[in-house]
Amino acid sequence: MSRRKKVYEGKAKILYEGPEAGTLIAHFKDDATAFNNQKQGQIEGKGVINNRISEYLMTRLDGIGVPNHFIRRLNMREQLVRKVEIIPLEMVCRNVAAGTICKRFGLSEGEKLPRPIIEYYLKDDDLGDPLVSEDHISAFGWAAPPEMDDMIAMTFRVNDFLSGLFCAIGIQLIDFKLEFGRQFEGDLVRVILADEISPDSCRLWDVKTNRKLDKDRFRQDLGDVPEAYAEVARRLGVLKEPPNLTVVKAKDA
Ligand code: ADP
Ligand code: UDP
Repeated sequence: MSRRKKVYEGKAKILYEGPEAGTLIAHFKDDATAFNNQKQGQIEGKGVINNRISEYLMTRLDGIGVPNHFIRRLNMREQLVRKVEIIPLEMVCRNVAAGTICKRFGLSEGEKLPRPIIEYYLKDDDLGDPLVSEDHISAFGWAAPPEMDDMIAMTFRVNDFLSGLFCAIGIQLIDFKLEFGRQFEGDLVRVILADEISPDSCRLWDVKTNRKLDKDRFRQDLGDVPEAYAEVARRLGVLKEPPNLTVVKAKDA
């Protein structure tokens, strides 16, 4: 179908070789998975919406000096990004207890945490993405201590900025996951933010009603999943139309 070379196909995205050296094309799919691939499905229009939301948030983050992989959006489902060597860690930042931290520490969902907390998970599907410590990370060489310092500083900065940005549109940023990678430029290496920031990778609750506007609607079979994603996009101003999926589909064609 496509003459482009596929580099990788994951659960939510396909990566193709980009038009210039050091670039990739990220293609956003509608496929959704949860619980380490045990639950699989499709969220209609998700790829289109996440492409837009990630474009918007990465662009805003670039504006406050958080270096990231986004170059430009190519079409409804694709964006051009800088190719990086992914650091095999998921940096999860939490403001409010939800998901796995509730079970781990016996917290109630919705409990405000004493301060934002960052956790590290090893990106390894076969092992179920285990929680790891900073000592594991340096001992096994997944990231060097100065790289960790950079990633931690950027994660807190992203949290501060996105918490404010979402608050302004009536959304509470409960938690989110970031991925970082090494960008090589000649002899220089720098760590930049990569992957995506979207309702797939964040927990987002309506401030007034606590209604979930993220992938938990899929994980927990809460219904109206595409509508929730569209609602986030609409509030961010990246989807002009009301959350009408027929419109999303037609534009995607
Ligand atoms: P998964 O691999 O978990 O199934 P995706 O379907 O989202 O997730 O696949 C996207 C893959 O691309 C992820 O493994 C992610 O680490 C990787 N990736 C994201 N951004 C970049 C980038 N700029 N350069 C290289 N790899 C990237
Ligand atoms: N997350 C993610 N990818 C993962 C695991 C988690 O994007 O592989 C995000 C998730 O959407 C949430 C945050 O990271 O916003 C914290 O997730 P948690 O550890 O509670 O795990 P989950 O409940 O998602 O399994």
